[in-house]
Amino acid sequence: MNWRTARNALEWLLSSGSSLISVEFNGGEPLLEMATLRRAVEFVEANRPPGTRVAYSVTTNGTLLTPEILAFLFEHGFTISISFDGVEAAQRKRGEGTFEVLDRLIEQLREEHAPQLAPHVKILLTLVASTIPYFAESVRYLLGKGVQAIDIAPRLTPDPDWHPSCREDLERTMDEIVRLSLDHWRRTGTVPVSFLAGARPPDASASAGEFLCSVSAATSLSVDPDGRGWACPVFASSLQELAPLAREASRALDLGEISAPSFSGRVAGLPMRVRKLRLFTNRLAKRSSYGACADCSFVKECHICPGSISHNPTNRDPDLVPEFICAFNFVARTARKRFDEMTDGEISAAWQRRVDKAICALKEAVEVSVRKGAANAAQKR
Ligand code: SF4
Repeated sequence: MNWRTARNALEWLLSSGSSLISVEFNGGEPLLEMATLRRAVEFVEANRPPGTRVAYSVTTNGTLLTPEILAFLFEHGFTISISFDGVEAAQRKRGEGTFEVLDRLIEQLREEHAPQLAPHVKILLTLVASTIPYFAESVRYLLGKGVQAIDIAPRLTPDPDWHPSCREDLERTMDEIVRLSLDHWRRTGTVPVSFLAGARPPDASASAGEFLCSVSAATSLSVDPDGRGWACPVFASSLQELAPLAREASRALDLGEISAPSFSGRVAGLPMRVRKLRLFTNRLAKRSSYGACADCSFVKECHICPGSISHNPTNRDPDLVPEFICAFNFVARTARKRFDEMTDGEISAAWQRRVDKAICALKEAVEVSVRKGAANAAQKR
């Protein structure tokens, strides 16, 4: 991305009027553009309106994280998400030759940046069918390395190695992950595997939401290297060849050139365009080959990325959830429920305390920023 494009995107963000903004650097590999990343941070620091809080984050494959780059990222409070699938046999499937580099990196983070590890470093583990046999071993390895946050998600695009018997393998390995996490929680009081530590399941009277994700809210926008805005990068046609269902969604989520006069109008019209697409709506009409979502006990909490439905080139049905996504969601939520029961609800209660604390901190930050803004305005007068 050239500097002019990056600057246009940042100017648009800084003019949003929000007192809390997030700047995320994703790729490809964003650390290949370290000069632009540094310049972007300097620009934001020099131009952010008084009282505005900025949360920076970067998602990286970790292979370019030198001590100097780490120092810069931590200095600016970055959250660093590192794609790492675990033990060597698993990592080899998607990142041949990178295990040793990442293994050393995690050691280095633990030894030299221990205070930043918990709040600022996340491991993103992508599960594919062929790494299910190494899944529990990978979680054990990451827990042993002192990693404090492990976000696990199944592969979004069709997985050629998935077959029906994989579900039983997944259930077996999930039992082991629950056992490992329980043991870890008893020793440390922490639950790094994020799907086990999540929200309390919604109560029976709550209704299932209509939308599958928050894309229509336009709270998060992406800009591609050519300066085109997207409501979600998963549907950016400029970055990938899209399947037919995804192409239709892409047209609705395309916000056009960020510097074009029509950009704000495209953003404003986004909810209307998304509402018309069945891919993003009608949660209760979704189904997989395992059954109808309307009959599933997890329908209110199941996260189905519309991209997982639409990135299958042979699928024309916006209600058909891929088997692997449904199996992972069901098995992970069953594990979450069992884990909470095994800890007598302590995990849900702890999660709720963290959420309450975060909401309090956010309210305080907003109040401080409002007070600062009023004081600055008074000074100018
Ligand atoms: S677990 Fe499967 S059946 Fe249940 S709501 Fe999620 S996708 Fe639908």
